[in-house]
Order: sequence, then C-alpha cells, then structure tokens
Amino acid sequence: MVKQNLHCHTTYDDGANSPEEMIQAALKYGLTSLGITLHAPIEGEFWTPPKEKEPEFIEEMQRLKEKYKGTIDVYCGLEYDLYGPKYFEPYEYIVASGHVIDGLYVDNTLERHHLLREHCGGGLATIERYYNNVASIADIPEADIVGHFDLLTKYNEKEALYDIESKEYKDAAYAAMEKLVKADKIFEMNTGAISRGYRTTPYMGADMLKHLKSIGGKLTIQSDGHFADAVACAFDLCEDIAKSCGFEEIWVFDGEEFIPEKF
Ligand SMILES: [Zn+2]
Ligand SMILES: [Zn+2]
Repeated sequence: MVKQNLHCHTTYDDGANSPEEMIQAALKYGLTSLGITLHAPIEGEFWTPPKEKEPEFIEEMQRLKEKYKGTIDVYCGLEYDLYGPKYFEPYEYIVASGHVIDGLYVDNTLERHHLLREHCGGGLATIERYYNNVASIADIPEADIVGHFDLLTKYNEKEALYDIESKEYKDAAYAAMEKLVKADKIFEMNTGAISRGYRTTPYMGADMLKHLKSIGGKLTIQSDGHFADAVACAFDLCEDIAKSCGFEEIWVFDGEEFIPEKF
C-alpha cells in the first residue's frame, strides 16, 4: 500500500484546505508521511501565492512538523514551474512542472488549453513545444520529481486532443522521458485530474509506464490533491496499474533523500 504523498496544495496557493487539514486527512487515509507542495510564487499568476505569503507557509510547515512528530512525518516541498523564477531554498524536495508555455496554460481549463494550441499552431506543434519544455527539467539538478509528465493529456478523456498512440506523440514524449531518466529524475503517476473530475484514470497511462520501466525509470505515486479528501486519491488503482506495468517499487522521500520502497 502506498503510504506517502508528496504532492498536494493548500490555501497557501490554489488548494481548498489548510496544511493542518491536509495532515488530518492524510492520517484518516492511513498515510505515514505527507509532503505539502507550495506552487512557487510567480508574479501575476493567479494560481500561485504572492511572494510575501511564502515565509508564512514555511513557518506553518515547521510548526506542523514539530506538532505531528511521532504521528506522521511532514515535509515541506515546492512545485517549481519552468516559467517562474528559479530558486529552491529552503524546501526539502522539489517537484518540477511545466504548466505554462509563453504565458499560456497547458492546463487550468480546457478553453485555456485551446488557446495554447492555437498559439503553438496545432496539435503536433503543441506536443513538441510541451515535451521540449518538460525535458529541460533534466538540466535542473535540484529537481527531484517531474510533475505530471504528460499534463497535455489532462483533458484527453473529455475531448480527444492528442493521439497518444501515434508515432509523433510517442517520439516527442519518449525523447523527453529518456533525457529525464538519464538525469535521474523521478516520474509521478498523478491522480490530480481524477479528484478534480477531468479523468477517470491516472496519468501517466500504461503505455508510457511500460516504456518508463523498460528504460530503467523511477516511479512515484502522487495525488496532487487540492482538497483534503483528495490527499490519497486512487492510490490503490495507481499501485495496481504500476504493478501491471512491471514496477515492483516506488521511490519515496525519507526526509533526507529518495529511496526505493517495495510495494
Ligand atoms: Zn502541477
Ligand atoms: Zn500540483
């Protein structure tokens, strides 16, 4: 059973619950450790906190770490976006993501995603721009986890935007994946689109997971929850899918480093 989540959001950014409410939910769902990620502040971006709020978040996380010592391990993480300023202190681990290209959103809403596609000049160009952007996480030594590697497919169940079986799609995605695996980055199965009603299955899907396994990639399972009850959303489903794709372990954070843990 998966007992850790390292990717979730709170009222300090675009989440609905406080860090302490997320910790309480993690206990309710049987997790033994919880990492809360703050979206890195980017000026003018509504889904990120104002820079002034960041010290408050760090102080609150410190308080909760102490308060829950011996009950649940609490970690303080950052979800860095490639579009924002590059800094990583004083966070314990970093999830690196590509939500924005040229100021336009890969996710957030389907309408906004369409604006990005128009801007890029169609589906194939969007695929290439997106995966080139994500591949650049390989050049950031501080980045531990690649956030929702195939975020492009967030809306794919509602509207078939990308043919993930096509050679063009796989060529672009796998080139990025290989670069990131060589740089020793960890890939997440992310259930954030399930808890928010965009998808019924986690991404990455089975094809991509099998390819990741075949090239020696590391996997972790994260909820990217934006409200308390999403803190461990569909973790059993992720575990089943990961196992069926050949994974026998996931990578977990122990407070110092990432280590493999058998299912
Ligand atoms: Zn994200
Ligand atoms: Zn997130």
